[in-house]
Amino acid sequence: MKQNSQKVIVITGASSGIGEATAKLLAAQGNKIVLGARRRDKLEKIVAEISAAGGIATYQLTDVTKRNDVDMLAKKALDEYGQIDVWINNAGLMPQSTFDKLKVDEWEKMIDVNIKGTLYGIAAALLPMRQKKQGHFINISSIAGHLTHPGGGVYSATKSAVLAISDSLRQEEALAKSNIRVSVISPGAIATELTHTITDQDIKPAIDKLYQQVAIAPERIAQVIAFTINSPVDTTLNEIIIRPSCQQV
Ligand code: NDP
Repeated sequence: MKQNSQKVIVITGASSGIGEATAKLLAAQGNKIVLGARRRDKLEKIVAEISAAGGIATYQLTDVTKRNDVDMLAKKALDEYGQIDVWINNAGLMPQSTFDKLKVDEWEKMIDVNIKGTLYGIAAALLPMRQKKQGHFINISSIAGHLTHPGGGVYSATKSAVLAISDSLRQEEALAKSNIRVSVISPGAIATELTHTITDQDIKPAIDKLYQQVAIAPERIAQVIAFTINSPVDTTLNEIIIRPSCQQV
């Protein structure tokens, strides 16, 4: 059902999974969506689907590891729609591996995308939000931000970092009375392309098996994000942990 919220919402990592499902749901609710990711074909298709359904969306090719790309994503939102009401730092990678594999390139990629990408999003959108005296950051962490396991050390570290960054930003904006909200969504196993990035064949089968057994659809997370955005502006859902009902840890 369409609501007249008409917010301008930027989503990183919007070309698949949680980002794609969230873009489609929020567009269907009447918001203007700016999608950022690297795969042009996917972004074009999603924007065309949103438009065909009567929604408003555009995209900007964005590699969140490049600060200038993220700034250009913010500029796209400001040029096309005049403001940024919500910025969703969703782009992420999970190439888990045990440390003895020394997959240092993958450690660095996770740090660059999951942590630095989130920071660049904050850097791009915070001042435009401050000028409007309103805004909302939604940062995607993970259950893995709260706990870890063999093979999950670096991914968990990046998602713990997202929790720390988010709560510090929340406190600063509360003190500044800027009317900028900060929320974290921490999902469990969600059926997306995320596990495709795992190259450690000693741990991948067990993770694939877990996902096959318990993972829920990314639309479930989209619904929670929409609920978070639509909560009254004087109230912030600071963190929501959402797991499949049959996921143990
Ligand atoms: P997907 O792999 O389906 O989506 C990841 C998205 O991130 C893609 O759109 C991809 O787009 C984008 N991305 C990756 N690298 C970059 C980059 N350098 N610059 C810009 N975009 C990038 O996985 P999910 O939808 O599951 O992941 C979304 C978020 O949810 C991630 O932060 C993930 O850590 C988190 N999460 C997911 C869980 C799950 O079980 N699925 C559980 C907990 C958290 P492109 O390749 O086109 O750039």
